[in-house]
Amino acid sequence: MAKNYDFSELKRLINLNSYTKNKLGVDENGKIFITWMEELGFESVSHQRKEIGNHLLFKSSQDEGKKVLLLGHLDTVFPPMSFEHYHDDEEWIYGPGVCDMKGGNMVALEALRNVHKEFGEIKNIDMLLVSDEETGSDDSKELTLSLAENYDYCLVYEAAGKNGEVVTGRKGVGTFFIDIKGKASHAGNEYIKGINANLEAAHKLIALTELTNLELGTTVNVGKLEGGIGANTISPHAKLTVELRYTSSHERDRVLKGFAEIVKNNHVEGIESELSGGIQRDVMAPNEKQLDFLKKIEEISGVKILAEQRGGVSDANHMASQGVVTIDGFGPFGDGDHTIHERAEKKSFGERIELSTQILTAFIQGKF
Ligand SMILES: [Zn+2]
Repeated sequence: MAKNYDFSELKRLINLNSYTKNKLGVDENGKIFITWMEELGFESVSHQRKEIGNHLLFKSSQDEGKKVLLLGHLDTVFPPMSFEHYHDDEEWIYGPGVCDMKGGNMVALEALRNVHKEFGEIKNIDMLLVSDEETGSDDSKELTLSLAENYDYCLVYEAAGKNGEVVTGRKGVGTFFIDIKGKASHAGNEYIKGINANLEAAHKLIALTELTNLELGTTVNVGKLEGGIGANTISPHAKLTVELRYTSSHERDRVLKGFAEIVKNNHVEGIESELSGGIQRDVMAPNEKQLDFLKKIEEISGVKILAEQRGGVSDANHMASQGVVTIDGFGPFGDGDHTIHERAEKKSFGERIELSTQILTAFIQGKF
């Protein structure tokens, strides 16, 4: 089955633009999936949205035993006309979303089809396709988090690593803003009457950056710095935009404490500072249960499965942060994602479909 995988359905999805802000296109992609999933006996629950595409939950019948969620997203980063159309050669398929992650969604679908063919009915396996992953899942986050308690395991279908690696760890990420309020005054006549927000921003920038710990994989980046009016005015206002990435909740807590202190302790007299923003996706840290799950998958498939950790985030972070045993990277191997060079390796589709079929078969048979 797997080796001669037919790409025509994937081609159809790829040729239908589904940029996150293209609600129509995202929903068209969703409708196709609804048809395919209902053919397999799934009940579709559409979480309707006005501005962005609808999030789709596909529910199978529920029985005793462990529950698994397959997770994907419908959207891509490509606006209409920026990178369109499917094309391929012997080895590769090219197109928007081919590995991130329409290709991955297809891998999950094909595995479900295989299981359906074998058992006639699918139980305890649901699938969630969100519409806004590429803009940070700001809307779907709440839905994903609220669904987490229903599942023991989560398989995420973002792209595999070069050697078929799955993903067992992803950094957490947060964006923060520090607003610094000083007082304007004429830089010539009333220099000492001013309270320089820019000067305070400079102190804070250095202190924030020093919270970085590369050895532990913690980075604090002041990526944007705004402030002031002009050369002859003491700056009344400055703003820092800061990104934090971290590999453990311990590091998250350390840095958040650091942020609070930096905001509280002002160098320049009379300054007022305020912190806003927060964590977007919490860390997905490798853990015992996840390693046991991986071992079990190796037993079932008879294949050694390599694992890797990635700095980039995905919706896997949400599930993992709720204690669901989560592994990402079950999609095909591809690269160039988020660029017009995005491609996926043809032969990896068959391999990934086979692996997921084996895992889902074991679920149906109650082996987990
Ligand atoms: Zn992406």
